[in-house]
Amino acid sequence: MFKRHLASLRHAAEAKRRAAAKKGKGDRRQTYITEDNWEGLLEQHGRSRAGFKVQADSPDAATSDAPAEREFDAIVMSVATGRCRVFRGGEEIDCVVPSEIGVLQKSVLTVGDRVAVSGEGESWRIDAIAPRRSILARPDPLHRHRQRLIAANIDVVIHVVSVKAPPLRPRLIDRFMIAIQRGEAQPALCVNKIDLIDDAEREEVLAQLQPYRELDVPVVACSVKSGEGIDELRDLVRGRTAALVGHSGVGKSSILNAIDRSLGLAVGDLNRKRGTGRHTTTASTLYDFGEETYLIDTPGIREFGLWDLDRDTLRDYFPEFAEPSEECRFTDCTHVHEPHCEVKDAVARGELNSARYDTYARLYNDLA
Ligand code: GDP
Ligand code: ZN
Repeated sequence: MFKRHLASLRHAAEAKRRAAAKKGKGDRRQTYITEDNWEGLLEQHGRSRAGFKVQADSPDAATSDAPAEREFDAIVMSVATGRCRVFRGGEEIDCVVPSEIGVLQKSVLTVGDRVAVSGEGESWRIDAIAPRRSILARPDPLHRHRQRLIAANIDVVIHVVSVKAPPLRPRLIDRFMIAIQRGEAQPALCVNKIDLIDDAEREEVLAQLQPYRELDVPVVACSVKSGEGIDELRDLVRGRTAALVGHSGVGKSSILNAIDRSLGLAVGDLNRKRGTGRHTTTASTLYDFGEETYLIDTPGIREFGLWDLDRDTLRDYFPEFAEPSEECRFTDCTHVHEPHCEVKDAVARGELNSARYDTYARLYNDLA
């Protein structure tokens, strides 16, 4: 089955990523962001970013190791203007972000980045940023065609939604799912505040989310109030780097606190490392829970951009269309305006989820 094929592909990719993460080094051959697409990414940030090839070209490059041989043994937990805070060897260190990176760091250096640092005492600096294996980005509020990085090197992005206050809006989920997968992270859904609805409503909500389960997207019904689903979330993030995204008010911070408590008890370490660099509520922050578990709290994100997505690649994010599309009359059927389209027929028969199809059709038209 296509679905299983997709799942096995993803598992293989995941294993590869985790192996790369374990090494703790920026081995280019094992990263998804290569030298080539890294440049492309920089291009999107504007011309000035071309100067970001700091490592090879910076004045002290001759005296320092090439990035590939560096020890990327620190992880960025928060970023502020000109400075950032990293975890390294069980310690939190404040680092200066040198001007070569500093000019660009607002969008270029991000939480979750693996970095090489040097220094001593109170004086530390960032030397290099490892290539990223995944990214999470959103449109730059000032330049819609550009993206702003929210986090890097994330294994799983948990899209938190709530059933009430604010109510569930399934159509938004697809945009989030596509953006997450494009960044090479695994998407998951967490439906919070499940305590606010009765059994009948609950069944209705979970039925709406069934298409995602069928695509092997973990769907966790959860309530910080009753504690339901918190164990499941803890299992989902263990040993991984996970980011929580979603509109503000859905309960991301509450969930993080609930997982925090649970993890603390599980590892029996009350002195576990926690981020203290929470300078602003609008920035992402990474927390180290030990045992290679990192959780990233992101600000309430209303929207993810779908960069360089075109009509052909859009289809890849609706893998459930693949099987019926083989029966479409036209081999290059877009499933939007063609006659004798098996995808549309399957939607009409209720075999494919119509909300998913509607999102596809809407995105398809947006991408004109
Ligand atoms: P965030 O903006 O996504 O971080 O959301 P918060 O964690 O700040 O939560 C927003 C509000 O929702 C707070 O008043 C929480 O007490 C409430 N809340 C969070 N989780 C739950 C839940 O599972 N059930 C109920 N009833 N309320 C919740
Ligand atoms: Zn078709």
